Amino acid sequence: MRALIVDGQNNHDYKATTPHLKKLLEQTGLFSVDVATTPPKGGDMGSFKPAFGNYRVIISNYNGEPWSTETENALVAFVRKGGGFVSVHAADNSFPDWKEYNEMIGVGGWGDRTEKSGPYLRLRTGKWQPAMMPGRSGSHGRQHEFVVESQASNHPILAGLPQRWMHAKDELYDRLRGPALNVTVLASAMSTIESGGSGEHEPLLMAISFGQGRVFHTALGHNNGKDITSQKCVGFVTSLQRGAEWAATGKVTQKIPADFPTAEKVSLREAP
Ligand SMILES: [Zn+2]
Repeated sequence: MRALIVDGQNNHDYKATTPHLKKLLEQTGLFSVDVATTPPKGGDMGSFKPAFGNYRVIISNYNGEPWSTETENALVAFVRKGGGFVSVHAADNSFPDWKEYNEMIGVGGWGDRTEKSGPYLRLRTGKWQPAMMPGRSGSHGRQHEFVVESQASNHPILAGLPQRWMHAKDELYDRLRGPALNVTVLASAMSTIESGGSGEHEPLLMAISFGQGRVFHTALGHNNGKDITSQKCVGFVTSLQRGAEWAATGKVTQKIPADFPTAEKVSLREAP
């Protein structure tokens, strides 16, 4: 299957992560991966016109200026008609004013998002519920290792994975908000007050349906320049690989890797 990574602007060093993401997708044996790079900030965005229709899944490593209306509409039409979309880490910061994009990612952060962007998703009495109250959108405490907990063990992306796994040092995004329509929260982590977080379980892996299409949203995967430790976590790797396959086809055929982290111990892997 053909997959396309989009990048070109990001508040993270995307040149350090895009080649890594590409290798991870190719490692599955399922994807051949192209990269479409936008002009830099201030460039002529009208020249950015990827042929989304040639691909089964689009992976966004992009957090930057709006695309042309034509390109934005093309992505919306692609997903609506059954295409797959994957949002990685700060890609959910992008496009605060693009209505359909926010419906695709479910919830997002920063970019002056507020309660006007939609509710938070909050775990209350065992259920994820939209919580409408004033407040900021998008924050994180100190980078640290944290336990990711499955919230949907029967979903194809998570089926067979441990209920809890220790994620490598990363930013734990909190207080994301958005339309929050048709979102299945796949996994979350407790964002502790002590780490500078929200004191809430925060949704970090999500599956969203949009038209006939499927979106996998991972809020994990911060990089500190060339240091991409969080994306070497086998939990990140496995969820990305399985999430991309699910977004592309609605199924997951990949085996659970033997080096998957336990609830106590981080497991890192270099890209092949
Ligand atoms: Zn980050």
